[in-house]
Amino acid sequence: MNDNASKSVPPSVQEVSLPVVGTDQRFPVRRIYCVGRNYVSHIREMAEADERDLPFFFQKPRDAIVENGDEVPYPQATENFEFEGELVVAIGASGSDIPVDDVDKHVFGVACGIDLTRRDLQFEARERSWPWEMGKSFDHSAPVGALTPTSTLDILDNAELTLHVDGKLRQHTSLSLMIWSTREIISRLSAQFRLEPGDIVMTGTPAGVGALGPGDRVDVAITGLEALSITVTSKA
Ligand code: MN
Repeated sequence: MNDNASKSVPPSVQEVSLPVVGTDQRFPVRRIYCVGRNYVSHIREMAEADERDLPFFFQKPRDAIVENGDEVPYPQATENFEFEGELVVAIGASGSDIPVDDVDKHVFGVACGIDLTRRDLQFEARERSWPWEMGKSFDHSAPVGALTPTSTLDILDNAELTLHVDGKLRQHTSLSLMIWSTREIISRLSAQFRLEPGDIVMTGTPAGVGALGPGDRVDVAITGLEALSITVTSKA
């Protein structure tokens, strides 16, 4: 039976955007790309992969964005919900096959982020050679702080990333310890996908990842950028 006449099309879908430091304007988000395995220390703690592997990419849905100060309900379907503190780069100008030396022209700004992970589901996917979506691309899995606009990634020279859970230091790295630099990541990603304004890239996490539970507060800081804080609440 065709009951289409009784159906009404949804009026719109949710727009997603991020605040920009120093302005009332907001940055519209088109796609969220993430890098797997970009710090030797994290590859070693996960006991996986060749430390010289090429970077690989996965995506999160844009409506997984969570803003600074927001609450994150403990997700469905996991017993091992983990944090990964990461630098986020926002793209402001389109391009494909971008040379490393040209990457800065395509960058809008940078921010703190957390690649929230259902680690048990990620490991199951790894063992079964399934895609990573169940472990990585769930609701509320992409907290990102306010974007700091910049014309050059040089502002990250000597920058350090820290992540605290309930005030206790859990992750601490120099961004210089990435296997693939921020510019190399953007260049290589642009060889796989044409990058467009509104794309954001999570650039990988260092050692120290661990589990979160209801009530935990997570704070991510990167030298010179706006900090990011979220609080985990009970299961939705
Ligand atoms: Mn990650």
